[in-house]
Amino acid sequence: MTHPILSAVPVSGRAPFVTIDGWALKANWRHMANLAPGARTGAAVKANGYGLGAPLVAKALFAAGCREFFVAWASEGLEIRQALANTNCRVFVLQGMDREAAELCRAHRLIPVLSSREDVRIFAESAAGTLPAPAALQFETGMNRLGLAEADARDALTIARLGGFDVALVMSHLASADDPASEQNEQQRLSFQHLAALFPQVARSLANSGGVFLGAPYHFDLTRPGIALYGGEAHLDPMGALRPVATLYARVLQVHTATGGEAAGYGATARLDRATRIATVGIGYADGYPRTASGVTSLRSAQPAPEMAIAGHRAPVLGRISMDMTLLDVTNLPDDAVQPGDVAEVFGPNIPIDEVAARCGTISYELLTALGSRVQRFAI
Ligand SMILES: *Cc1c(COP(=O)(O)O)cnc(C)c1O
Repeated sequence: MTHPILSAVPVSGRAPFVTIDGWALKANWRHMANLAPGARTGAAVKANGYGLGAPLVAKALFAAGCREFFVAWASEGLEIRQALANTNCRVFVLQGMDREAAELCRAHRLIPVLSSREDVRIFAESAAGTLPAPAALQFETGMNRLGLAEADARDALTIARLGGFDVALVMSHLASADDPASEQNEQQRLSFQHLAALFPQVARSLANSGGVFLGAPYHFDLTRPGIALYGGEAHLDPMGALRPVATLYARVLQVHTATGGEAAGYGATARLDRATRIATVGIGYADGYPRTASGVTSLRSAQPAPEMAIAGHRAPVLGRISMDMTLLDVTNLPDDAVQPGDVAEVFGPNIPIDEVAARCGTISYELLTALGSRVQRFAI
């Protein structure tokens, strides 16, 4: 039986592909907005919209009502600006301030996030002779990644007042928001509140996805969810309302039976203790299916091997992941359930992305952002 997705999207050939459910993406954004009714809700769309395609993601989120977008680099900001040309959205650039980035920001109305004395100096100097442009300030509150310490924040305030730039937003980032029991959340919130008080008229932003789930004290004026919009970290949502957005598919290339006593895959790490039906599917680590998905415990934690779904059945990964292929043990599936050309769901509605990530010793963020460039993307 042909998998319904094959008649829904114009797949060509047997390479892996991913569908992106725009309706689910918008529903997830609205859900995050509803959880923080006292704040505006933005979106992190860095790393090509968490791997799914920045223009597509930005347009869908804009249609849902999002007006604040966060990217890592100025070049990514430019892509968002172009996707949302002639709109009033604000695009924040989280890192990489230098003279070139400062000029890109000015030329394309991108708002840089300044996180060090150097950042502040470079952006203020680029203002010489022009009207002050908006910039955000990021404070160090416990993550020790990027951020201004208190003395730097006071100096930035002075430079802004002298006409160096307009402070459009103050922000910080939570290191442990995915762990509601962590005391670091409250420590960072208090530290942020203290530093933000230096800028009494300025909008404040602290919460990523996990921060939104921590509740109203973390929401301030603007939230910045990322992974939740894309359906990851769904277990953090107390309402259980997040929907999968990306469904990754691979095609079965060949099915055959190996006899007990043989081995399968590189390094012969999968020793077959019985006659085993093997489905070879066309996805590998070059597509972003990590090598730690291998059905080999030396490459993983003590977790069971990840599984894929074929025709409503789950089948575990067997042996090592190759660059372009993966082996599945389909012995337990009904005899005629798997044929060459069939579609295997790698993650999506039937195989939660967070489950695959956990079994690969990683996080859903990495599975999404690692999706290879040869994985065809289809908006549905
Ligand atoms: C990536 C990022 C976010 C979004 O984080 P999620 O955990 O994906 O919700 C928010 N703020 C900053 C500064 C980020 O770098």
